[in-house]
Amino acid sequence: MKKNKAFKFLGKRVSIKDSVIIEGVEDVHVSDDVALADYIHIWAYGGVYIGDRVIIGSNTTISTITHNYESPVMHGTLVMKPIYIENDVWIGSNVKILPGIRIGEGSVLGAGSVVTKDIPPLSIAVGNPAKVIKKRNPQFNSSNWYLDITECPVCSSSKKEELSQSQDFLCNSNPEFRFHHPKYKIVKCQECHLLYKSKIPSYEILDKYYKTLETNYEDINYLFPTDKLVLELINNSDINNLKVLDYGCGSGRLLKEIQIKEGRYGIEINEDAINKAEERGIRIISEEDLVDEKYDSFFDYIILTDVYEHLFKPMELLEFLSHKLKKQGKLIIVTGNSEAVYYKNRIGDYWYFKLFSHLQMLNVKHAKWLAGKLNCDLSDAIECYHYDVPTKIELKKNIASFLFFIYQKTNVFFPAIWNLPKIKKIKNWNYPILNSYNKDHLIIILKKR
Ligand SMILES: [Zn+2]
Repeated sequence: MKKNKAFKFLGKRVSIKDSVIIEGVEDVHVSDDVALADYIHIWAYGGVYIGDRVIIGSNTTISTITHNYESPVMHGTLVMKPIYIENDVWIGSNVKILPGIRIGEGSVLGAGSVVTKDIPPLSIAVGNPAKVIKKRNPQFNSSNWYLDITECPVCSSSKKEELSQSQDFLCNSNPEFRFHHPKYKIVKCQECHLLYKSKIPSYEILDKYYKTLETNYEDINYLFPTDKLVLELINNSDINNLKVLDYGCGSGRLLKEIQIKEGRYGIEINEDAINKAEERGIRIISEEDLVDEKYDSFFDYIILTDVYEHLFKPMELLEFLSHKLKKQGKLIIVTGNSEAVYYKNRIGDYWYFKLFSHLQMLNVKHAKWLAGKLNCDLSDAIECYHYDVPTKIELKKNIASFLFFIYQKTNVFFPAIWNLPKIKKIKNWNYPILNSYNKDHLIIILKKR
């Protein structure tokens, strides 16, 4: 068939053989890098979604249309159910896919399979009816890869409220850690108000992941909006002989901007970053050095930016660091702000939690609780953007997310709106983009009593 036909959506670098027949092409969404082999027949009137990099073998049939067999006369009883083929699926030749099926990300369907039930992500399924015989990347799917978190990682309370369940999905942001993440719940601790995941990769896996960061270091020579706010705070202080510690300082992106000669300390594990930081006159110390009592009540500021969400046992580190602060010294924590996510029932799919090394998210109530435990006062909590976002894009993304939820919640179909070209796409989202287009970070400042 000719590609210039009016697809609902047609991505880039798509290959479709001339012998392919698609009935109802206007209901087909084809994402980027899709390949459709010869003699595929698709009855698409119920809606077909084909994700990125999907490969479909020859002679495969995909039908979104069926008939109601409970009706005495079946002729004329059209029942239409959409089919979703998620990213990176490989469908062999001669496969039959029945109406209403979802084929999970990264799955393989053996030649001749008849698919009568949904296929979970990263499965290898064969036969009639198709059955899952194997999982891809088994090392990433075995149960000991994941840890069930049953109590709050900060306060150890098991009193909790379940806010949301995530989808299972393919983590693919890091090529060395490309694996299938199972569903997790986002729960809110009723004691300290922290939001945390009920299932996380095991400590060994996370350790391995952080080790890769020790060798792969990217020097960021750029200040994020959160950095600028933190710097403003420190550079405006009128303390003499200021002493500042940046925990996870990198090459000194932040510290180099602090207008003092002495007194800039950093903790960092990456060798290249350490060299660069030392060139910039920053004193690199190790966590072991910091144990020494000469550093007790030593610092005016301790900064933890983008660290809190990664910590297994946040309280241990925070208690340790608070001993190192002078009286009236300030602990500055920059991390995600759970209150900025409007749709709590979908917060599991929020980008922040989909990063597998992000284990928790805080909010102002949690910051207040932390202050009390650490013998501090919460002197400020600033909601902010982590990234520079043009207002126009922020507005657009927020409207799109809002429309997605309207569509999900009410199922109201106003054709006039939903057929507008830019809005049409939103209906097919698996989950909201909920991207970083609002003030989804929080800078909390705890002042030691
Ligand atoms: Zn808690």
